[in-house]
Amino acid sequence: MYKDLSVYIHIPFCVKKCNYCDFVSAPPEPGQLKAYADALCKEIKLSAAYADNFNIKTVFIGGGTPSLYDSSVMTYILDTLKSTFENRRRGSYIPEEVTIECNPGTLDRNKLSDYKRAGINRLSIGLQSADDKELKLLGRIHTYEDWEKSMKLARECGFNNINTDIISGLLGQTVESFEDTLKKVLAYSPEHISVYSLIVEEGTPFYETYAPEKLSKEEADKWEEEDRLIYEMTNRVLSKYGYDRYEISNYAKKGCESRHNMVYWRRGNYLGLGISAASLINDVRFANTDSFSEYIAAPYGSIKSKEVLTEDEKMSESAFLALRTSYGISCKKFYDDFGKDIHEIYAEAIKKWTESGMLIERDGRIFCSEKGINICNMIMADFVL
Ligand code: SF4
Repeated sequence: MYKDLSVYIHIPFCVKKCNYCDFVSAPPEPGQLKAYADALCKEIKLSAAYADNFNIKTVFIGGGTPSLYDSSVMTYILDTLKSTFENRRRGSYIPEEVTIECNPGTLDRNKLSDYKRAGINRLSIGLQSADDKELKLLGRIHTYEDWEKSMKLARECGFNNINTDIISGLLGQTVESFEDTLKKVLAYSPEHISVYSLIVEEGTPFYETYAPEKLSKEEADKWEEEDRLIYEMTNRVLSKYGYDRYEISNYAKKGCESRHNMVYWRRGNYLGLGISAASLINDVRFANTDSFSEYIAAPYGSIKSKEVLTEDEKMSESAFLALRTSYGISCKKFYDDFGKDIHEIYAEAIKKWTESGMLIERDGRIFCSEKGINICNMIMADFVL
């Protein structure tokens, strides 16, 4: 009996590092692009053992900026994945969703047509803001117009499942300026919109200016309040335009939720390939090295961490990840998975948050109310055993 598997492929290269980014990504040095693609394909071939038990259901090529590569390389990587899982009488390669992250400014018609031919059926085109001044502040390589061109091209090339990322919470951003970004995005009707709050990470150029401790209390309070108002407005506007907030930061038109990301929130099996990529297979969590040289030298075998999850960890993850989604926790699934009634395990947390109206229990599900989703992190913390 085969299980479903989602595959994440990490591409650690970008044209230039953005000012707020702490992902494992950097501009490529000479020779690195080829060396990395070769190592990645080696790791894919060596992951053939998983084909004994798994069928690939979704693929997500993320980064970094995967679209920085020539499209023939993406074809080569996907073909390798396909032949590894398909040319056996065991597992199979039948992904329902294959996504690639792209940066405006790195796409052209040929590349997009090649993506289609390679089986990619979903694009995630990062915009972040429709205000060129904000894009400059963020250190992005593109303008709003570049994003518009990419969207038009993608539609012309037949892509009908597109996500766009936007960042809220920039200092100086207002509800009005963010609404302007939203409306400009909505003019192109992407099927999916992710709205992330800016996190000022230590070690980034942004941290030098916007570290929380560098702001006065008044500035910090105003910033937080504006971000809260932005989130409320976003919810209102996107719901009016037919988008469902199916996860804290993710909105989709009906049927266009990210199948790949749902696997993370439902604790399905996923295999991460490439530098720093994380995996969860049969309740064993492991992650590859962050070091480029280590990965190139041993693409299958440079695991930096591995842990077998305890029963408490599995229950905690199951509960708090599900609370991120609008569906919430299925009480029956929790019982089927763990043989325990969720009301016994989380009696206090469920009582506390349902009584305060932040959690709702209905039809065998426990989920965040509209108010609750805005303080989901606090609620989730009470579900960690
Ligand atoms: S494009 Fe994305 S991954 Fe690359 S530096 Fe910018 S934010 Fe980071």
